Amino acid sequence: MDTNAGKPVAEKAAPQPTAKPTAKTVVKPPMPSAPKAPDEGLDKVAVKLVEAMARAAAKQEKREAGTSTKKPAAPTARSSTHSKTDDHGTAHWSYEGDTGPANWAKLKPEFNVCAIGQRQSPIAIDDSATLQGPAEPIGFNYRPSEGTVVNNGHTIQVDVAPGNSIAVRSGNFDLLQFHFHHPSEEQVNGQRFPMVAHLVHKSAEGQLAVVAVLLTTGEANTAIDTVWKYLPVDTGDRVKLPPGVLNLPDLLPKDQRYYQFMGSLTTPPCTEGVLWMVLKTPVTLSPAQIRLFGQLFPNNARPVQEVNGRPVREAL
Ligand SMILES: [Zn+2]
Repeated sequence: MDTNAGKPVAEKAAPQPTAKPTAKTVVKPPMPSAPKAPDEGLDKVAVKLVEAMARAAAKQEKREAGTSTKKPAAPTARSSTHSKTDDHGTAHWSYEGDTGPANWAKLKPEFNVCAIGQRQSPIAIDDSATLQGPAEPIGFNYRPSEGTVVNNGHTIQVDVAPGNSIAVRSGNFDLLQFHFHHPSEEQVNGQRFPMVAHLVHKSAEGQLAVVAVLLTTGEANTAIDTVWKYLPVDTGDRVKLPPGVLNLPDLLPKDQRYYQFMGSLTTPPCTEGVLWMVLKTPVTLSPAQIRLFGQLFPNNARPVQEVNGRPVREAL
């Protein structure tokens, strides 16, 4: 998941002012050799993606040129430079290589907890080690909603208009956004799923609660169909959904029993103190729906982290 917890305000949980830093973190194309890509036998999708990245980088340069006296570098130069920190101290992070998960903590002092935290997410869940028993159901108060689909370079995220919440542990948590990982970050009884959706909520006190919906291959999902239909393929782009097309209850399985544990953001700054609820029953996506996301994000999953004796509760 992608938000902030310890301090109540979430970097990516908050739908608002993250647009600029988010755009900046994604300027770097996933492939170091962006300008040469078309000659290197990459498939069409990759080529399109590289071109989109280059356009985004060019846009970003323009924006910077408008607000700073610093001479803008050509997008290609910037791409190959791979500077790990931009002018505003926003560190670039990714899912591979020298900016990948094993190195997140080195990119910025604030990312330190990614390496030294003792309650990090995701984790591998195993029924043989869970605390099994009754648990309160999660009260989902989801409804057809408005939202904006964002491609932030790390995932596709839907910032959801206010009006949706969950009730659990005697508290209400408002839904801020949901986003996807491919493959699933969570591992359950040794199995990873093709994808996962993380629904990020926050209480009035600033406590974060994330519901993970595992996604597996099967029938197409209508809510995902809506999101994919308005998918912004260009990094940094945002597409507002027409009113009434997003039906959030369609994202949930009928059986809503879950695993519960305390964890962290799964993206930098890896802040801890997040209440996690992983629904045990997956929801299906069609092979085409999974393939489309996988073309944009072949791997945007953090590897599983040490459990360190954390209790994982399993609602029966
Ligand atoms: Zn996530």
